[in-house]
Amino acid sequence: MLVIKTSLELIKSIDAIKEQKQTIAFVATMGNLHKGHLNLVSLAHQRASIVIVSVFVNPLQFNQAEDLRKYPRTLENDIELCKKQNVDILFTPSVEDIYPDGEQKGRIEIPELATLSTILEGAFRPKHFSGVITVVKKFFDLVRPDVAVFGEKDFQQLLIIQKMVMLLNLPIRIISSPTIRESDGLAMSSRNSKLLPNERRLAVKLFDVVNSIREQIMSGNNNFTELSKVGLLTLSQSGFKPDYIAVRNSDDLRAALVENTTKRVILAAASLGNTRLIDNLRI
Ligand code: AMP
Repeated sequence: MLVIKTSLELIKSIDAIKEQKQTIAFVATMGNLHKGHLNLVSLAHQRASIVIVSVFVNPLQFNQAEDLRKYPRTLENDIELCKKQNVDILFTPSVEDIYPDGEQKGRIEIPELATLSTILEGAFRPKHFSGVITVVKKFFDLVRPDVAVFGEKDFQQLLIIQKMVMLLNLPIRIISSPTIRESDGLAMSSRNSKLLPNERRLAVKLFDVVNSIREQIMSGNNNFTELSKVGLLTLSQSGFKPDYIAVRNSDDLRAALVENTTKRVILAAASLGNTRLIDNLRI
């Protein structure tokens, strides 16, 4: 496995790969790799001959300096995990490399993504998604992948990236991976490592609440507002500070209408102490 630290070096390697007519699958991460990320890597292996993973904690998508500072960074372990997963190239650029003119310069804003980027996560994390699409577009330009794999764990992000690829006519196929969970149901996340032991025991309640709403909808309860309200109350009473629970259409995240039978997704976000968790389940 090659560990490449600069975009210049990466471009040279990609040139050589392209010359050999090999196909590239790309997995973008912020590191602190877990089985959720590794599932993306296995899907990547099924789709192309070369697998490239990036580990880059993107300052542009954080809303709070403290959250960015405390984000878990475990590069040595990430390198070992990637080696075991037969990753071909691990790209670990510096912030200066990706944002040569300062990290607030060159932010990409796509007006057509405004609606999707300002609801749900976007309402609680202003500019988060423009930070995400900026770094993903930069990585797409550097890596030139045929395929890129993203997790359903970040459902809104997945839709936004799919839409960006469509709007900009990028020649990249976006593949999604189902959410990989701990044995109790908690969605795996780098942020879980920040949970205190008592918070970790409680954390699964977020999945339980979303799952219970899913079951109720599947057995015919279409009162989405009431279901969300009860879910929010349950979370508050369990010690969470909930941000939202919403039942939406899974293709555009508009409010799900009872009479409309398109596919739906339940999305939720809530904090436990200093750790903010998100989850979702499709119906
Ligand atoms: P992150 O490192 O959190 O930015 O995540 C990098 C990629 O891994 C994103 O596409 C996430 O959606 C995906 N991912 C993170 N956690 C999981 C999980 N538990 N299951 C599946 N994919 C995940």
